[in-house]
Amino acid sequence: MICIICSNKITSDLDGWGGGHNPWPVNPKGRCCGKCNEEKVLPLRMARYYKHKTRKDRINKEKN
Ligand SMILES: [Zn+2]
Repeated sequence: MICIICSNKITSDLDGWGGGHNPWPVNPKGRCCGKCNEEKVLPLRMARYYKHKTRKDRINKEKN
């Protein structure tokens, strides 16, 4: 299996899981390796989450 982000072969993680990771939102399909998941996918996912959360908080504040 090849990582959709860095094109390297996906190897097993430390916990033995070798099926790769969901690369969303960096890439909507395929699988990515553990390294890309940690360095690219998770930070982007967190950034999107907080952006979304902030927007929601602002809307709630305007309502009150
Ligand atoms: Zn990768």
